[in-house]
Amino acid sequence: MASARIKRGDNVKAVAGKERGRTGKVIAVLAETNRARVEGMMVVKRHMKKGRSQTMPEGGIIEKNGTIHLSNLMLVCPSCEEASKTGVKAIESRKVRYCKKCDQTID
Ligand SMILES: [Zn+2]
Repeated sequence: MASARIKRGDNVKAVAGKERGRTGKVIAVLAETNRARVEGMMVVKRHMKKGRSQTMPEGGIIEKNGTIHLSNLMLVCPSCEEASKTGVKAIESRKVRYCKKCDQTID
């Protein structure tokens, strides 16, 4: 199995698709589908009609956070703050991710 290049808690930037150019924090990675849930991305607003929902008896708007495919996301490097390609290298037999732009390790 290829090691995950994007993990929960990472800051990522959308480089393709409908959210292109936006950045956000990864809430969850869904490995089975290669998708991630990212704060503020793919938010779908649903209007709830009055009386239709027990949790919202007055109705209103609920926001649902959809998922985005991992191939549309790039990790934002915490050191140089750029959306950059990441590599994996072994340091003392531990695999860590690193930024190909500034060469800083990310994990
Ligand atoms: Zn960097």
